[in-house]
Amino acid sequence: MSAVSTMIFTHGTILTMNPSREIIADGAIAVSGGRIEAVGRTEDVRDRHPAAGEVDLSGHIVLPGLIDTHVHLAQTMLRGVSEGKRLKDFSNWLFGRIFPLQGSYTEADAAASARLAVLEMIKSGTTGFVECLLAGRYGFDGIAEACVDSGIRAALGSLVMAVSPETRDELGWHHGMWQTRESSIAQALDAHDRWEGAGEGRLQVWFGCRSAEPACDLSLYDEVSELARERDMGITIHLAEMPSDNDFAHSLGFRSHVDLARGHGLLGPRTVLAHCTVAGGEDFRLLADTQTSVSHNPANNASAAWGPAAVTDMLAAGVNVALGCDAAPSNANLDLLRDMRVACHSARQRAGTRLAIGPETVLEMATINGARALGLGDSLGSLEPGKSADFITIDTDAPHLQPVWNPVATTVFAAQGQDVDTVVINGQVVMRNRVVLTMDEAEILDDVRGRFRDVAARAGVTGLESEWPTV
Ligand SMILES: [Zn+2]
Repeated sequence: MSAVSTMIFTHGTILTMNPSREIIADGAIAVSGGRIEAVGRTEDVRDRHPAAGEVDLSGHIVLPGLIDTHVHLAQTMLRGVSEGKRLKDFSNWLFGRIFPLQGSYTEADAAASARLAVLEMIKSGTTGFVECLLAGRYGFDGIAEACVDSGIRAALGSLVMAVSPETRDELGWHHGMWQTRESSIAQALDAHDRWEGAGEGRLQVWFGCRSAEPACDLSLYDEVSELARERDMGITIHLAEMPSDNDFAHSLGFRSHVDLARGHGLLGPRTVLAHCTVAGGEDFRLLADTQTSVSHNPANNASAAWGPAAVTDMLAAGVNVALGCDAAPSNANLDLLRDMRVACHSARQRAGTRLAIGPETVLEMATINGARALGLGDSLGSLEPGKSADFITIDTDAPHLQPVWNPVATTVFAAQGQDVDTVVINGQVVMRNRVVLTMDEAEILDDVRGRFRDVAARAGVTGLESEWPTV
């Protein structure tokens, strides 16, 4: 659509997520120039825009686009590799399997994986995401360009790390996954100079910090925090993910891993911490006071068996908690509709009561809280006039979705990624009737199918098949 024409999307059940959380039973959204011009009852919006083109969404639930605050684009081609011969120990898994595979990627492999991830996200209703650790060797430009062309909204965390060559070799860290502190910081700053605000403002470039663990020189975080404040850049990092993280912090005299992050300047309104499964009460007060966001990854945490984070305690303390799918090796899909359900179930299970959390809260985490985590709370995350036109629709004409008593419960508990019919991002119709209009789906799938075994052969990694015999 041209920047000046108005399009109206009519007859949907609209979950506005506005401050009153209104649900409009027969609602319409008028979109013009990438922004929402009006949201209301279909007859009212139509009266005000008699000449507008119209898309009929009868039978669809319409909601803000979902925001996935923790993604690893390059690991999507590694979907399923954690099973087969299962590795018990996290560091064996990381250094013995995942890093050798990723470290053997060519730029074309990484781009293929990234495009697969973006395609999967769009097809399951994710309209914006935070990539945690994008290594320069994957070819930042190719991946940034693929994101821009797809129409999605992204904050790409350009990897920064400070691990000495001696420590790398001691750990058996694949050389392809390692780079120097100086080059990683220079790369992130260069990427920020060239790509921040690309795609009509849809792209952001952040610092993607490698984890705060014994292998890392922690002064990296002081330097990166300072640079991020100077440039108003976002920061994302895995934090307080497993018990050893707190042990490490204690060994340095910090109260906790979150306290260590505070001590090195990492906390603040432009920071997204992934996981926080081993954070507690004092930490939550600190995160709320500093307006730091947390990306809660319930399906990944369940698969890795670290258990669910204390998400209801975080929310009660006033922390901005958003949702993330994390990576395909540990959580096979980038399907936030499915993971909203897991978030609800796991929080109830942890609390021992179904009253602990409802679908409304989980939907807030996937939409407006995600928008705040992106630093876009004022312009994204709800369907209100003046905000960016980022929304998705769920076609409820399916046996597993009928009847619809409560569209919020249907969305969170019954819908899955494959039920997303239409995706609009920044006013652009990116998917309609499940056909992605901005990407060549068949070509992307072919590309990945032609590559994944070569990556394993190059990496010399085996044991990825089922333990049952293949005949
Ligand atoms: Zn992760």
